[in-house]
Amino acid sequence: MSESELDLADVACRIDDLRRTIDHWNYEYYVLDRPSATDAEYDAALRELREIEQRHPELVTPESPTQRVGTTPQAGFAQIVHPLPMLSLSNVYDEAELRAWAARLDRILPGTTFAFVVEPKIDGLAVALTYVNGVFDHGATRGDGFVGEDITQNLRTIKTVPLRLAASASPIPARLEARGEVYMRKRDFAALNERLERDGAKVFMNPRNGAAGSLRQLDQRITASRPLRLFVYQIGYVEGASEPTTHWDALAMLRSFGFDTTPDPALLSSIDEVWERCNWWQERRDALPFEIDGVVIKVNSFRQQEELGFVARDPRWATAYKFPAIQQVTKVVDIIVNVGRTGTLNPLAILDPVNIGGVTVSRATLHNEDEIARKDIRIGDTVIVQRAGDVIPQIVQVLTDRRTGDEQPFHMPEVCPVCGAPTHREPGEAMRYCTNVACPAQLKQHIHHFVGRGAMDISGFGEKLADRFVDLGMIHDVADLYRLDWNAIAELEGLGEKSATNLRQAVDASKAQPLARLINALGIRHIGERAAELLSDRFGSLDALMNASLDEIGAVPGLGPVLAQSVYDFFQEPRNRAVIDKLREAGVQLADGRHAPIDHDGPLAGKSVVLTGRLTTMTRSEAEAALKRAGANVSGTVSKRTAIVFAGEDAGSKADRARELGVTIKSEGELLDLLGAGALPARAAAQ
Ligand SMILES: [Zn+2]
Repeated sequence: MSESELDLADVACRIDDLRRTIDHWNYEYYVLDRPSATDAEYDAALRELREIEQRHPELVTPESPTQRVGTTPQAGFAQIVHPLPMLSLSNVYDEAELRAWAARLDRILPGTTFAFVVEPKIDGLAVALTYVNGVFDHGATRGDGFVGEDITQNLRTIKTVPLRLAASASPIPARLEARGEVYMRKRDFAALNERLERDGAKVFMNPRNGAAGSLRQLDQRITASRPLRLFVYQIGYVEGASEPTTHWDALAMLRSFGFDTTPDPALLSSIDEVWERCNWWQERRDALPFEIDGVVIKVNSFRQQEELGFVARDPRWATAYKFPAIQQVTKVVDIIVNVGRTGTLNPLAILDPVNIGGVTVSRATLHNEDEIARKDIRIGDTVIVQRAGDVIPQIVQVLTDRRTGDEQPFHMPEVCPVCGAPTHREPGEAMRYCTNVACPAQLKQHIHHFVGRGAMDISGFGEKLADRFVDLGMIHDVADLYRLDWNAIAELEGLGEKSATNLRQAVDASKAQPLARLINALGIRHIGERAAELLSDRFGSLDALMNASLDEIGAVPGLGPVLAQSVYDFFQEPRNRAVIDKLREAGVQLADGRHAPIDHDGPLAGKSVVLTGRLTTMTRSEAEAALKRAGANVSGTVSKRTAIVFAGEDAGSKADRARELGVTIKSEGELLDLLGAGALPARAAAQ
């Protein structure tokens, strides 16, 4: 055999392969309503087949899927022959192809000015509805484009299908065929699937699949129970009345007869505007209440449409711009587990890299173990992966038909994959956690949180620096922040004496952060700024919180049982207590004067006191807070009712007045004795 004969044999083999594959997908899609391939996969195969057949017309046969769009109607529905075939549209996939399509129009009708109508391409099931003297007579699916299924009874159940044409400025034609798309809204689809799942029935893969499956029910009562809708986008033919002369006018006429036409059509005069409109729809795609998979562009004038005619079975005067695919088929190579800041074990699928809409995707989130079990995702599975907007890619469905038996089920690890500590999952909760607060995988994230705003708020302590300290082995838990070797840090590349000093000051200052911030900074699961404030207000010190029973924590108004359990568990963990002991040793303030409970039994309880002079171990406001916590009433003026005046250095007129009135005067040292060391701000106690 010559080399070209060999090539031809290969080509014939490939053609046969593609035809068999497409036929099988067609059968699953149209007959069974159970597709195993994505639209993108299907389109790509059909496109490749068309291209090969164009290069080798001698290999084209009548039974090729390119010559026979769709499939034979399902047994059980009568057949309806379309008086005018329901043809498919050619597709364009980018701006260059769109412009090439427009350039072809100019070549065929040189010097002609075209106007275009641009409409969204609804992702549903194409149907044709025939009205005789204004009354709905019969309706059919597109089928193979020439013969469809009689679904008249099913269409009658759809509320957006007019059973009688509305009175309009246009005379009612003797016969009118309206063409459109039966579809489901995204929200309705989700509700339907929820209902089916509750009833233990098979759920639909997407709204189009749901619309097709619901419309092609032999029992029309089932169809009637489904949230189907109809958008009409074209007049098939008109008899016994004058036909509009443009597509734009045809849409207006259909609307006037009471049809729901495709929303927001645009009448445009240049291909630049058409492309702009394609992008306009693409940007809105995710936010629309229904699914669209592209944009349909038609030459507006029916006369021009006639002149342009057809190439093979595709009209030259229309095309569909198809959005980049958001779903692709690929393989799950592995399933790995990442550990997050709060210790969540996050399962991730490692995929055979696949291009989805111009982005290479090699990972998909699996959310949690229930999700993996629900979708039955196994290592080695062939899956449909979806990417929409900036959302992390996810696995939509496993193609179980393609299993070989070598696939491995996945189980979440009982121990943390990073530190080996036991993992834990609360009943009723989806996530599994590593129980170790010092888990190295969590440490960097944990420190980022600890030094951040709303927590200890250490300015200049950026994420990069924190990671560097962890990598250098200088930090093993958050308490190590307060035991850093500042001389060593000053010698680190890119830091220097001045930065080290600034950083040290910021770290030292953070020791006096209010208790609520410290509680938030600890990174207790579920506990954010708000919950941390509730706990600080109620317990006033970390020791009180740490030693509280589950019931006591649960009694905090606004906290709830899940958060209470989380707080309780956190302090039961010895490693967490060890970190708190280290914080205490480092001089971090573990109690909050502003919110601490008031001592009603101590030596200062109920006494009226006055502060004067300069204190050396604490600020005036810290002393006031400590006195209030001890139950004293702090006043600014000395009177006969004043019990004690605490006089610091350089006390002036208030001390004199106290002497005049015979009020007891005590020193700062005596104040400290009365307050007791435990009640003092950490900074005062440390000095
Ligand atoms: Zn761990």
